[in-house]
Amino acid sequence: MKYISTRGQAPALNFEEVLLTGLAPDGGLYVPEQLPQFSLDEIAGWATLSYTDLAFKIVQPFVGGCIPDADLKAIIDDTYVDFRHPAVAPLVQLDKNEWVLELFQGPTLAFKDFALQMLGRLLDYVLERKQQKVVIMGATSGDTGSAAIQGCKRCSNIDIFILHPHQRVSDVQRKQMTTVTEGNIHNIAVEGNFDDCQSMVKASFNDKRFLPADRQLVAVNSINWARIMAQIVYYFYAALALGGPHRKVAFSVPTGNFGDIYAGYLASKMGLPIDQLVVATNKNDILHRCISNNDFSKQQLEHTLSPSMDIVISSNFERMLFDCYDRDGAAIKDLMERFQTEDVKITDAAFANVRDLFDSHAVDDEQTVKTIAEVYEASEYLLDPHSAIGVEAARAARRNSDVPMVTLATAHPAKFPEAVMKAGYPHEPALPHHMADLFELPERCTVLPNDLAQVHKFVVDNITA
Ligand SMILES: *Cc1c(COP(=O)(O)O)cnc(C)c1O
Repeated sequence: MKYISTRGQAPALNFEEVLLTGLAPDGGLYVPEQLPQFSLDEIAGWATLSYTDLAFKIVQPFVGGCIPDADLKAIIDDTYVDFRHPAVAPLVQLDKNEWVLELFQGPTLAFKDFALQMLGRLLDYVLERKQQKVVIMGATSGDTGSAAIQGCKRCSNIDIFILHPHQRVSDVQRKQMTTVTEGNIHNIAVEGNFDDCQSMVKASFNDKRFLPADRQLVAVNSINWARIMAQIVYYFYAALALGGPHRKVAFSVPTGNFGDIYAGYLASKMGLPIDQLVVATNKNDILHRCISNNDFSKQQLEHTLSPSMDIVISSNFERMLFDCYDRDGAAIKDLMERFQTEDVKITDAAFANVRDLFDSHAVDDEQTVKTIAEVYEASEYLLDPHSAIGVEAARAARRNSDVPMVTLATAHPAKFPEAVMKAGYPHEPALPHHMADLFELPERCTVLPNDLAQVHKFVVDNITA
């Protein structure tokens, strides 16, 4: 399998290369040159597979020849060992034909574990084979950092440095990062805000001379292709559990960077019959405006009760636009460059392509809280604010009530106590039992000033691998 850039001017890469690359040199994102195609009979034959066996079927064609099957199988079998539910991604019924897919059974209680547990293992495998060691740097406002740390804690060829804004992440989020005390895990609390953290990481990627010559700098943000790949699996898994592929299923996806729902779109392109994909956003609704009204105008960032979806520009949307423009890299390059400075519209033909499968709905904080309360009232099922936006959007945008509608539940309610208590829940929702000791575990974290030179010095002084 070869991977090409959405802007058409970068060399094609194989899987191993794409794993170690972030943005393409032409500014685009890598996508597979061709998607694997599965027939209905083939998909139907997977109905009894475990989550990991199904994951192997779906991931194997993407890895195409880069990793021997037996090794890939072992990597995938190991990927979900820290998930605390035998079904890995269990389905819960809310109402007739209405379901949530719990993607928060992993070690950090959010769906990013699905991708980052796999990414860490894949990276460590190819690095071991290449006899190479890398430094990962990332900035986090909470969820991604902890999932990346958990995904890398057993990787002997990776040192990971995660910057978070000092005293500006929740206690649960901080503890999920700082209580991971393996020697290759380095938490830095920056005396600044999230943007300061992100700027320092960006600056580090722009000028890598601070690192020793034998260290490559790797990113694990959601533009990494392997993260998308891992997320395709649970769309097949949920559909098979609900009578697919001989029956269509619809999905509603709490969306920020468009990585999760883009994986659903790929599942559909690979042969899974999907009736509808609902893009659920909060007040940061550029995707909703785009999909409902072809309006791409950028707006100020708003802080909401669903912080993991607070985003101005959704980087992965470019991957889908590439298909909508019949994979015309030059057209995407032009569109994305104009998008930097002006309000763009996509062509009517491309817009029609988007509308074929996608619907969208935006949900504000007030309605988010109301939905948490309503669902709890109806079934005593407690949604986190991101998942609640998914459920509300599913109800608002549904095309066909005969089709099972599955909302992806992207986080556990214990991660977002503020929204849950605003909905009338009487106390902070409890962490799952296996994590009840989180607040007693020792923490390891270094507080540094908002100063790039000091952060770089810390990185260089603490490389262990
Ligand atoms: C990251 C995240 C999202 C958004 O996912 P994207 O792939 O960025 O669209 C939604 N909910 C939660 C809890 C998240 O952590």
